[in-house]
Amino acid sequence: MNDPRKPPESEANGYAKIDQYNPAAVERMAEHVHSMLSELGEDPGREGLVKTPERVAKALQFLTHGYSVDPALILRSAMFREEYQQMVIVREIEVYSLCEHHMLPFFGKAHVAYIPNGHIVGLSKIPRVVDAFARRLQVQERLTMDIRNCIEETLKPLGVAVVIEAQHMCMVMRGVQKQHSIATTSAFTGEFNSEKTRAEFMRLITSGTRA
Ligand SMILES: [Zn+2]
Repeated sequence: MNDPRKPPESEANGYAKIDQYNPAAVERMAEHVHSMLSELGEDPGREGLVKTPERVAKALQFLTHGYSVDPALILRSAMFREEYQQMVIVREIEVYSLCEHHMLPFFGKAHVAYIPNGHIVGLSKIPRVVDAFARRLQVQERLTMDIRNCIEETLKPLGVAVVIEAQHMCMVMRGVQKQHSIATTSAFTGEFNSEKTRAEFMRLITSGTRA
């Protein structure tokens, strides 16, 4: 029996191999994409489209590979005891996600901060946590809270702040077609609920200075 608490080797550090597709799922999804092409009035048999169903199926598996990644495990793999108790900020993390209403991309920047309470985490892990949640079907509001909650529950810091600014293709390309509108969401815990700390964070992420 496999020990369910012990992930397989490839996931031991929170990674799942994202270039490994599930062939059975690819085949089934490709059949649906083939039907969709016909429904759209296309000829799925024409040269340029012959391999499209398989490509779409693989692309969708890649774009949702966050389901097979454990973000808390990513953090736990690089947590260190440290007495530093000042704000740690990782700014302008690229975000690429799919809205769950249209399965169209939304993308932009995330800014994440925390104030350590005995533990810090390797800085490169923060963007990977963002990615683990972004590479799923999402709404921007929940993505923001998922990231906040994961850091809060795993690192147990004095506070967490997450701000995401994103453009949604379902707004830009269809519907209201407002091409330059950006949605901003934010989520805070602990010390970031104090006006002073939050204001400092907001100043630092908008100041344009590179620390
Ligand atoms: Zn949408």
